[in-house]
Amino acid sequence: MPGNLITFEGIDFSGKSVQANLLHGALKDRKLPVLILREPGGTEISEKIRSVLLDNANHKMSAMTEVLLYSAARAQMVRENILPNLEKGTVVICDRYFDSTTAYQGFGRRIDLDFIKKLNNFATEEVVPDLTFLIDLDAKIALQRTKTALDRLEKEDSEFHQRVRKGYLEIARSNPDRFVVIDGTQSIEAIQDEIFMKIKLKLPL
Ligand code: ADP
Repeated sequence: MPGNLITFEGIDFSGKSVQANLLHGALKDRKLPVLILREPGGTEISEKIRSVLLDNANHKMSAMTEVLLYSAARAQMVRENILPNLEKGTVVICDRYFDSTTAYQGFGRRIDLDFIKKLNNFATEEVVPDLTFLIDLDAKIALQRTKTALDRLEKEDSEFHQRVRKGYLEIARSNPDRFVVIDGTQSIEAIQDEIFMKIKLKLPL
């Protein structure tokens, strides 16, 4: 594929969207064709699914419904947005992608990991990121960063978030070729520099 897919992963408030946006700005400044997407979302249909997933009124949602909705939103985003842009040679930056499903629904909610793997492959047509930045942060530190109202998933207990964090680290260990694990306790600028250094090895900058 002519383009590159770069994804950001980590627990909520680890600093993913700040870094994804900084990278987007830096690549745009260098006149590279670049697109930023967030998950769940990135298309009109996927944004509608997002509002169902994050609605506090939907506290009855089962873990099975949840994993299928995330995958449905992703399937639409891959077909409608990611694939056509990669084919055009665009650098696509994604704030969360299928590793989030493995970490949250697999390790967090303990849905069978083999099933999650099959579902991820099915939803993404096996479009795998070229590079994934995992911003690793303790769940308690992440929570201290928020003063805003929490959405449904962010309200989960800290034991859940610790399981997700450990899950992410395990996924990174199993995929060393594409994962870069970053210490999320560093300053925004230090993290940005580390990300940029790694990006330079992949992209013509
Ligand atoms: P995420 O997308 O992972 O949920 P955000 O990028 O939205 O996280 O950041 C969550 C909050 O933490 C924001 O208020 C942001 O300004 C702050 N933040 C992000 N990165 C850092 C950092 N390295 N150190 C301290 N605070 C940070």
